[in-house]
Amino acid sequence: NSGRILSTRSYSTQPVVGENGEQEPKFLQQVGLYFDKAANTTLHEPGLLQYIKEVDSLYEFLIPHETINADGKRVVKTIRAYRAQHSHHRLPTKGGIRYAPDVNRNEVMALATLMTFKCACVDVPFGGGKGGIAINPSEHNVTEIERITRRFASELIQRGIIGPAVDVPAPDYGTGMREMSWISDTYRAFRPNDINAMGIVTGKPVSQNGIRGRNEATGLGVFYSVRELVEDDEIMRSVGLTTGIKGKKVIVQGLGNVGYFAAKFFQENGAKVVGLGERFGAVYNPDGLDVDDVNTYHKVKHSLVGYPRAHTLLQNSADILEQDCDILIPAALEGVINLTNAHRIKAKVIGEGANGPTTPAAAEILEKNGAYIVPDLFCNAGGVTVSYFEWLKNLGHVQFGRLTRQAEEKGKRNMIDKLQTLTGRELSSAEYDVLTRGAAEKDFVYSGLEGTMKESYKVIRQISKDRQVNFRTAAYVSAIDKISLCYQEFGIWP
Ligand code: GLU
Repeated sequence: NSGRILSTRSYSTQPVVGENGEQEPKFLQQVGLYFDKAANTTLHEPGLLQYIKEVDSLYEFLIPHETINADGKRVVKTIRAYRAQHSHHRLPTKGGIRYAPDVNRNEVMALATLMTFKCACVDVPFGGGKGGIAINPSEHNVTEIERITRRFASELIQRGIIGPAVDVPAPDYGTGMREMSWISDTYRAFRPNDINAMGIVTGKPVSQNGIRGRNEATGLGVFYSVRELVEDDEIMRSVGLTTGIKGKKVIVQGLGNVGYFAAKFFQENGAKVVGLGERFGAVYNPDGLDVDDVNTYHKVKHSLVGYPRAHTLLQNSADILEQDCDILIPAALEGVINLTNAHRIKAKVIGEGANGPTTPAAAEILEKNGAYIVPDLFCNAGGVTVSYFEWLKNLGHVQFGRLTRQAEEKGKRNMIDKLQTLTGRELSSAEYDVLTRGAAEKDFVYSGLEGTMKESYKVIRQISKDRQVNFRTAAYVSAIDKISLCYQEFGIWP
């Protein structure tokens, strides 16, 4: 049981070449292939389908950044930034902002496209958007990241590209609550009289008009969506697994906001998390890992290399995807399951916590081998679903806990039980008030999210049965039908 040293390999977002020289398409083209497959099974007018498929608008611009180089000299660097809006059939458009060195036009357009279909799939009334800044956050200090973020935000705000009714950003890979706070403060500075100013971004800290449960929402949604599939007797029988989460072996790739919480919810609900992978290193233990222990190690070392309680030697961090498990959750970046590794993947259930982790060619291989894929546009829709709750809270200037009696009562009971066990003392009335309101809001968010995932699963499952298509195609069909209906009712104007 000695710890083994794992070598490192970072994930690439570039399209890969298969073992026989086949070139895989770029991310946007991959999303296009998934769309076409679904669109071809519908009866909508081809011209309208083309309009629904394409990205409406892309704003690409440069941010000048002054910094001190290694010789102590002041230098100016040019940073590329993007905001794509895929579809305006519903407003505002919605989607995260990604900070990564190789963010590019094709990637944000693909991600914005996915946002449209994701929102439609789970009935969140937004169009799709996504933004990005081509920086490596680990190469900048906090002050620099703040300056870059505020410059990015001010340009988009002043040009009317983002706004509470226009386009509402959120966290994505490389960003979090901190960046959202800066953006909302920048917006307030420019639009001090906008009563809806807090609706400019979601994913804010709770103390800054965020909502309880948003932080863990994507991971929780991943858990709920995969649980629906794993509780489906017919499907579990067909893959030779028992029904239910208990005892299932789970591997999660990515310990960011999505992967960490997904792993945690699987573990809390009786699954055995046997593998965790990060950019630098991966750990595997057939007896199960302690998610928090691994996560704490990663936080301190910024790497999983040398983690002492791993039992299995892996050549590199991407190999974690190929280890023995029942459920595999890729929760980092796109394209990680591709032609080079799909045939070695053992999981029978793949839950796409990331956006676009499985290439179309890889998906075909996995499905030929009898695996089920819970597709990104459904699987990771928990984040934007709770973003919607946050946005409603901001526009309504409400505290959900105060308004929903049932949730309030349930939340109070849970919180009181927990606190009394923990502290062994009576609560003061002030503590009681503050804590129970928070608990009620969290309850409201969790149950709203759970209901959303359950309902959407039913719809996707039915379409998949009726049309004999996989879950991804079914989810796209469900989304395309709704968007098409929306345009038919609006009419094409002028
Ligand atoms: N970036 C997340 C996603 O890809 C969340 C988007 C949002 O909450 O608007 O779904």
